[in-house]
Amino acid sequence: MAAAYVSMGCNLGNCRAYLGQALDLLDAHPLIRVKKISSLYLTEPVGGLRQPDFLNMVAGIETDLSPEPLLEVCRLVEEQLGGRDRGAPHGPRTIDLDILLYEQVEIADKDLTLPHPRMLERAFVMAPLMEIAPHARLPGGRTVAEAATSLADRHRVEKLGALDLDGGGC
Ligand code: ADP
Ligand code: MG
Repeated sequence: MAAAYVSMGCNLGNCRAYLGQALDLLDAHPLIRVKKISSLYLTEPVGGLRQPDFLNMVAGIETDLSPEPLLEVCRLVEEQLGGRDRGAPHGPRTIDLDILLYEQVEIADKDLTLPHPRMLERAFVMAPLMEIAPHARLPGGRTVAEAATSLADRHRVEKLGALDLDGGGC
């Protein structure tokens, strides 16, 4: 089993429901177990486009999938939950799943970069990741907590409570 961390974000529609369904779909996969989930975070959009705040969280999973098939599962979950407007790179979306870390694996392929190339610059990623995995190690050996000390992102990131896994209301 490999340990991996998946970042999830939503700013369109019933985000708590989408995030809950995304977790359920990941966990329903025979080769994926969701082991840990962060609190929800209400975060200011990055990228300058006027759009609603995001709800973000990070899930810690264990998986017997290698990174590429795991990305494929993430894409399928995105599609199942309504897809998104791919015309706007940082635009609104029902659900966005990004693989942050997969063990200490490094990949630089056309379709998959690990660790996620922008994770260390994004407070909306690092805050929930810090909450559930401060001791996880990046390639090179630094921990998430060590990497987070140099975070310069000042976008607003507000920690909310836990996602109500039985609910789905607003
Ligand atoms: P973003 O998440 O940066 O807002 P997208 O979700 O549209 O944008 O992702 C664009 C592409 O990023 C995906 O088609 C995927 O192939 C690629 N990608 C590269 N590395 C990763 C990763 N670690 N996790 C998820 N997607 C990745
Ligand atoms: Mg993405």
